[in-house]
Amino acid sequence: MGEFRQARWFEPLIFSIGSSGRRGYSIPSIRDTDRSALRDIPENLRRRRLPDLPEVSEVEVVKHFTRLSQMNFGVDNGLYPLGSCTMKYNPKMNDAVASLDEVRWIHPFQPEETLQGMLEVMYKLDLWLCEITGMHKFSLQPAAGANGECTGILIIRAYHQMHDELKKRREIIVPDSAHGTNPASASMGGFEVVTVPSDDSGCIDIEALKEAVSPRTAGLMLTNPNTLGIFEERIREIEEIIHDAGGLLYYDGANMNAILGKARPGDMGFDIVHLNLHKTFSTPHGGGGPGAGPVGVKEHLKDFLPVPLVEYDGKKYYLNYNVPHSIGKVKGFYCNFDVIVRAFAYILTVGAEGLKSISEISVLNANYLASKISCIRGFEIPYGKGKPRKHEFVASCSGLKSETRVSAKNVAKRLLDYGIHAPTIYFPPIVDEALMIEPTESASIEELDEFVKVMEAISKEAYENPEKVLSAPHNTSVGPIDEVKASHPRTLCLSWRMYKRKFMKE
Ligand SMILES: *Cc1c(COP(=O)(O)O)cnc(C)c1O
Repeated sequence: MGEFRQARWFEPLIFSIGSSGRRGYSIPSIRDTDRSALRDIPENLRRRRLPDLPEVSEVEVVKHFTRLSQMNFGVDNGLYPLGSCTMKYNPKMNDAVASLDEVRWIHPFQPEETLQGMLEVMYKLDLWLCEITGMHKFSLQPAAGANGECTGILIIRAYHQMHDELKKRREIIVPDSAHGTNPASASMGGFEVVTVPSDDSGCIDIEALKEAVSPRTAGLMLTNPNTLGIFEERIREIEEIIHDAGGLLYYDGANMNAILGKARPGDMGFDIVHLNLHKTFSTPHGGGGPGAGPVGVKEHLKDFLPVPLVEYDGKKYYLNYNVPHSIGKVKGFYCNFDVIVRAFAYILTVGAEGLKSISEISVLNANYLASKISCIRGFEIPYGKGKPRKHEFVASCSGLKSETRVSAKNVAKRLLDYGIHAPTIYFPPIVDEALMIEPTESASIEELDEFVKVMEAISKEAYENPEKVLSAPHNTSVGPIDEVKASHPRTLCLSWRMYKRKFMKE
C-alpha cells in the first residue's frame, strides 16, 4: 500500500487574492473608431457598474486552480468505486471531440441546413441507443437522469389521459431498493408512490407486487440490475403482472454498463427507458452537470415524446415539431449537445464488441471484489447470498460497527486516507451500514487488489485501534467536517455574493 497524502494548501477564495486593478491579460485599448461603435449600444443596455470580478493576474489564476485541483479527488487520481452514480470508463478522446470548434461554436438558433452534421450525430445516436436498449425512438432532450424519469412519468400520464384512465390510475409502483429519484419523479408527476419490498434474494417480492397491483396502477419503475447489483430474473413475470393490470413499465437505465450488448430492456418488456449518458457513456460530471438522460420508448408511445424529434427524410436531417400527443418540451432547445457528441464518439470507437466487453469487465470486476470483501472481518454481503452480482454490489459493515463502533461512514472516510474515493454509503436503505461499491470496467486487477488490501487494513485498524478510523480522514486536504454545519442552509455559502452578504456586512 503506497503512502497517500493529499496536498494541503491554505487556499483563500479567488476574490481575496490579487489587488484592485490587477489584470490577467494585456490587450491594446479600444481604438477611437471602435469606441464610436460602442456609443451605438442603446442606453438602457449599457452597463453602469463594472461587474464584480476577481482582479488577479494570469499566474495567480493558474496557481489558484491548480492548488484547488490538488486538494480534490477525481476519476483521474485513483480508484473511484462510488456505487451506481459513478463515472464509468471515460476515454479522454471523447473530451477532445466535444472540444472541437465545430461542436463548441454551434448555436441553437442556426438554420437547420447549417446544422446537418450535428443533426446527423443526434439522429444516429438515437438509432444506436434504440439498438442497445431495444426501444423504437429516443428523445435526447432531458438533461439528467431525473429529468429523463420525469419525462417518462409525464408520458405515462399522457398515455393514460388519452385512454381516459388517468382519473383512475393514480399509482406508480417502485421497489424499496430504487434510486431516490424514482419516487420523487413519480410524485412530481402527480402520482402516489406504492413501495414494494425486496425478498431475501434481493429481487422484487413477486407476491407483494401482485398485491400492490390494482386498477389504480399507472405503471412500475424498475432498475435492472437493481441497486443491489442483482438482475431481476423474474422480469418477464413482472412485466406480465404490470401489463395485465393495464400499467406501463419504466426502466431506469442510469447504469447500463452491466448489460450493454448482453440484454435489452426492450426485450424484457419495458415501454419506456432512460439512460444516463454522463455515467455510462463517458461524460465527466459532478457538482450538478453537465448531463444527458435521453428517453426511449416503444412504438406505441412515440407520439408522446418531447418536441422536437430529430428525423431524416432521405435527403436531409430536420427537427420535427409535428408530434401529435407530445408532452411538450422538458428542457430548453434540443439537448446538452456536448454530452451527446461524447456518447456518439464513445459508441463509435468502442464498437459493438467493445460494448460487450465493457459489460463483461465491469461484471467481472464487481464479482471479484465482492468475493474478496465478503471474506474481510466485519463485512458481509447481504441479500442473494452467493448470487452473482452485475456491475456493483452492496456490502454491509454492521458486524464491524457492533464490534468496534466503526461505521460505514468511518470506513468511507478512512478509505480517503489511502487515496481511494469513498463508495456510496447508506444506500440502498434496505441494507444496514451499507457500502455500495462499483469498481467499474476501468479498474485494473492491480487496483482491485490494492483496494482489497486497504479494506483489510481498515478492518484490522478498526479492531486494534478504532480511534484511528473513527477520527479519519487524516491525510486529506480537509479533515473531518461537521456534517450538520456542512449541509445546513444557515451555514452553507454557495456564492461570493452570499458570502459577502453573510460575512462581510457590506
Ligand atoms: C444517478 C441515478 C439516477 C439519477 O440521475 P441524475 O443524472 O443524477 O439525475 C437515477 N437512477 C439511478 C439508478 C441512478 O444511478
